[in-house]
Amino acid sequence: MMRLPKFEYRVPREIAEAVKIIGDAGPQGQFVAGGTDLYPNMKRRQQTPQTVISVMRLAELNQITGDGKSGIRIGASVTLTDICENEIINRHYPVVAQAARTISTPILRNMGTIGGNLLLDTRCNYYDQNYEWRKGINFCLKKDGDVCWVAPGSAKCWAVQSSDLVPVMVAIGAKLRFVSTLGERVIDAADLYNDDGIDYLLKRPDELLVDIQLPALNGWRASYQKLRRRGAFDFPVLGVAAYVHLKQAGEVDDAKIVLGGIAPSPLEVKEAGAALIGNPLDDDHIQAAAEAAYVKARPLDNTDFVMNWRKQMARQYTLRALRELATT
Ligand SMILES: Cc1cc2nc3c(=O)[nH]c(=O)nc-3n(C[C@H](O)[C@H](O)[C@H](O)COP(=O)(O)OP(=O)(O)OC[C@H]3O[C@@H](n4cnc5c(N)ncnc54)[C@H](O)[C@@H]3O)c2cc1C
Ligand code: SF4
Repeated sequence: MMRLPKFEYRVPREIAEAVKIIGDAGPQGQFVAGGTDLYPNMKRRQQTPQTVISVMRLAELNQITGDGKSGIRIGASVTLTDICENEIINRHYPVVAQAARTISTPILRNMGTIGGNLLLDTRCNYYDQNYEWRKGINFCLKKDGDVCWVAPGSAKCWAVQSSDLVPVMVAIGAKLRFVSTLGERVIDAADLYNDDGIDYLLKRPDELLVDIQLPALNGWRASYQKLRRRGAFDFPVLGVAAYVHLKQAGEVDDAKIVLGGIAPSPLEVKEAGAALIGNPLDDDHIQAAAEAAYVKARPLDNTDFVMNWRKQMARQYTLRALRELATT
């Protein structure tokens, strides 16, 4: 049985108290929300904070406010189940509920939060193993070792950004609000992720994610398609988020295709968006965008399924995501 290491557990009630505790704890402090990612990582000794600070009792982080007209704010500690069931999200931002419904199992969605999902650790077949397994291969670059088993000549870790909501948030232009003892800042979701499996977030560890701001609805539409082996359970090994905005005449005037589950950070395929912008959302242009996604997708051999097949699926899943938008 894998046991948690010893740690001090703190449950602040105010944001100011939470950021002070983590500021005082320094690099040994870490926030926890539902714990569905952090606690398994601690059991495997991949992350070993000495002070764990719960964000679940911070009232401001548990609210959903606003509407489709002005945009909504989702508190970072709102659970995935609440996202799936929330009436405003389902009515105005169905892509967010659609992606959240594909995450893990109902029990994990009751515990897991949107904030934890957006700040998830990167994943790799050589890393998501218990301590003894990793010790058996002399560990790897990401933790305790000095070689990458996926690309042995590489000085970089290629562990994969594996959240279902991340590509969606990047595609629709969500913003994330962080607070620390140094103040507050708002970051575009597109600017938060770093293409490095170890240093995968462009945020400081002492910054608390307070909420996620979804943009006002002004006619845009988005959809999400996920590739995984077991429909009821697995992480994405490819996720395609498609976003389009159409003019009255049916011409696309903005479009984004964002791929998740294939690299250390979400990948916006600009060429796919360019293939759509200025054109009708018809099958010829959808095919051109899907081809661009196929060309840009370069999955590595560190998750489930053969990487060449995952690359081909980037074309198929982009087709699916865009065809869904063309028919709604
Ligand atoms: C069996 C299994 C299957 C899974 N399947 C999927 C899947 O299909 N798709 C998917 O996307 N995920 C999946 N997950 C991962 C995880 O369950 C979800 O991503 C979940 O949303 C994580 O949220 P959490 O609240 O439990 O995060 P936690 O484990 O509490 O935290 C995750 C990270 O976020 C940080 N953090 C959390 N909240 C804050 C905050 N407010 N401010 C600053 N830092 C914070 C923590 O320090 C930690 O680094 C799976 C997990 C398991 C165990
Ligand atoms: S990509 Fe390489 S360094 Fe990163 S977790 Fe996998 S084996 Fe380790």
